[in-house]
Amino acid sequence: MFKRMDKMAIELTVPEYGDANAAAAVQELLGGKFGEMSTLNNYMFQSFNFRQKKKLRPFYDLVASITAEEFGHVELVSNTINLLSTNLTFPGDPDITPLQNGLNKRNTQHYIATAQASIPGDSMGQPWTGNNVFNSGNLVLDLLHNFFLETGARTHKMRVYEMTDHPTAREMIGYLLVRGGTHILAYAKAIEIATGTDVTKMLPIPNLDNSKFDYAKKYEEQGLNNILYTWSETDYKDIRKIWKGTNPENGQELKVIEGTPKGAPIPNLDDLPEEFAPGITKDHYEAIAKRLMQNL
Ligand code: MN
Ligand code: MN
Repeated sequence: MFKRMDKMAIELTVPEYGDANAAAAVQELLGGKFGEMSTLNNYMFQSFNFRQKKKLRPFYDLVASITAEEFGHVELVSNTINLLSTNLTFPGDPDITPLQNGLNKRNTQHYIATAQASIPGDSMGQPWTGNNVFNSGNLVLDLLHNFFLETGARTHKMRVYEMTDHPTAREMIGYLLVRGGTHILAYAKAIEIATGTDVTKMLPIPNLDNSKFDYAKKYEEQGLNNILYTWSETDYKDIRKIWKGTNPENGQELKVIEGTPKGAPIPNLDDLPEEFAPGITKDHYEAIAKRLMQNL
């Protein structure tokens, strides 16, 4: 089962102006092959389908708990795309072409299919697909895939960071570079425990150094590169058997926190009359408010 909190992983302030083409590029980090929808669904199905959960508890706990974190990353990247769509069009009668600013942008679906909000697709507008899920049922193979998936996801994040300097996009990417780094390390450690192989010595990837990314600094200073959460008050505590020792990047101690991070408020999106969204006029809302107060 899942429990939901009306919070977001980090605080994203509403910018004065978004950037439509940055929003289109950030879609890759949401619904691309290596986006958050892929990490979420890979770990979700792997956890549902995991064989011998009792015997292999720490590995199951790891995949299951990271699933919950990835759900929050889908939420964070979606909200980033929505904020990158701030103040790009203007209200007005249809004949003044109020959505004209969307016409020559990278993703016209952001103006037509949604009301300037995220789509479950990639930076080219292609829908996310279940073909992006790998779940062989072989523990070592699935862990190795997850290590590869997180490494690919990190590469895409670094590239999108290099494409846009919009502070909203960079804030999100700075945070996710740090959190993604913990997942790469977690899967490397899981493979090491499962096989005896030191993955970080076997492969020249990944480079987990975030020092060149200014927006990652604050999150590393908070120690978020050393922490895994259980995302549950009661369960998934056996991740401790994998997430232990020190972080090879900085020599600091790895820590498990039972539960979730505190979280931050979800941004409140303005109405967009030119998109008929949410399509509730002042008079209409007064009628709704009355009905909400009544005992029907
Ligand atoms: Mn993620
Ligand atoms: Mn991840």
